[in-house]
Amino acid sequence: MAEPLIFERSVSGRRGYRLPPSDVLAMGQAEAIPDDQVRTEPPRLPEVAEIDAIRHYTRLSQLNFSVDTHCYPLGSCTMKYNPKLNDRIAALPNFASLHPLQPTSQVQGVLQLLYELDQLLSAITGMAAFTLQPAAGAQGELTGLKIIAAYHRRKRSIRSTMLIPDSAHGTNPASAAISGFTVEKLRSGPDGLVDLHELKSKLTPDVAALMLTNPNTLGLFERNIKTIAALLHERDALLYMDGANMNALLGIARPGEMGVDILQLNLHKTFSTPHGGGGPGAGPVGVGKKLEAFLPVPRVRKTGKRFAWDERSRATIGRVHGFYGNVGVLIRAYAYIRTLGCEGLMRASEAAIINANYLKAKLEPTFPVPFNDHCMHEFVVTVKALKAHGITAMDVAKRLLDYGFYAPTVYFPLIVDEALMIEPTETESQETLDRFAEALLSIAQEATTNPELVRGAPHRLAVHRLDEVRAAREPNLRWTPEHRQSVVHSR
Ligand SMILES: *Cc1c(COP(=O)(O)O)cnc(C)c1O
Repeated sequence: MAEPLIFERSVSGRRGYRLPPSDVLAMGQAEAIPDDQVRTEPPRLPEVAEIDAIRHYTRLSQLNFSVDTHCYPLGSCTMKYNPKLNDRIAALPNFASLHPLQPTSQVQGVLQLLYELDQLLSAITGMAAFTLQPAAGAQGELTGLKIIAAYHRRKRSIRSTMLIPDSAHGTNPASAAISGFTVEKLRSGPDGLVDLHELKSKLTPDVAALMLTNPNTLGLFERNIKTIAALLHERDALLYMDGANMNALLGIARPGEMGVDILQLNLHKTFSTPHGGGGPGAGPVGVGKKLEAFLPVPRVRKTGKRFAWDERSRATIGRVHGFYGNVGVLIRAYAYIRTLGCEGLMRASEAAIINANYLKAKLEPTFPVPFNDHCMHEFVVTVKALKAHGITAMDVAKRLLDYGFYAPTVYFPLIVDEALMIEPTETESQETLDRFAEALLSIAQEATTNPELVRGAPHRLAVHRLDEVRAAREPNLRWTPEHRQSVVHSR
């Protein structure tokens, strides 16, 4: 059922609350606000009681899909359940009311936490040191690319090519292009992994680095990563690993031991910050010893028992964020790592891998997996066969909403036709995975017996098919019932 606009609930004169008359001498408006800045008409605000406002927004929130209400198997995004404990810890007044300009003597606790988080992330990944500044995965990539550029500049080596496999996440070529590199695409081999012949043929002296998403967007571990690193290092090129998929590797494998020179982690995906609403996030960047000097400043140093900001650095690329990044996200990550411990982190990754493989096994008789191997924490099926009934990946995704599941990622990675990229995460139970598989299998049935039903989905939500292109190109934020009719497709 659609929820009307709060303006449509407005009744003239209705109020949430009224303040008692002020007993402070009022300053004349003319003295307080210059004439040209005074409204001539009162703002058009909805006039509703407090309970109307509460019910309106609560109902709107219930129309939404979220990790707290639905299984959310959105491939690449790691929409796992994040323990509420970590939010509560980040909200403790002793953290939440700190000011970044406070003298370091007053913020020793949070500096210690940041210092230790750097060490914990280094231990988990096998890297030498981290900057915690970047605010997202993509900003971590940008930071990493600036470090790569600085490294070659320092060696007086002019290199402008960035190798990126076609199975990489879309942000990788975007970040490389924004950083001024020329992107050279590497075609994946038939197994969905980096093709070593292709790599060798493109490994010219102009190559600055290879950006490798590992596990890649097909959910496959790049099992030749050590060879890849060695090939690059022979030519003094670097290996950048997009570590947003670290949820598959915790406690199992350390990129630093695979020859990775630099990587970013997505704390909001792997380490317990609720996300999907646009942030804040954190994309710390870890480097090996030879790149440590290039890390952004400031960094937290420990001298004796005291912690302090250190702005000194011979070769730093500078600062990439105001103050020290999104500290609230960093606190959540610290709390998550500390509560799970080594053993717990490893079990989280194992469960993520087992859940994905369990689901893949249930689905693959009906939905082929084009690059089929033991997957890591996610996998990609194709629904190409349903095209015979006029059904697309988008139709399947929309129909899943009727079954009470958020849809998987669609049409990505680009190397799989009519792709559904499914990441169940470690926090879903076997019962939920079974229900999800049953929903998909019954949609495959419907596609043959009642394709109209699938094409018209979703049927059970407040809005049906939206004209997404039109909604983006001609946004109309003044909702009316007529306008709604014109935006919503009736197919
Ligand atoms: C999510 C993701 C990114 C981008 O991270 P943001 O925090 O959204 O900028 C990069 N690479 C991979 C593999 C990802 O899954």
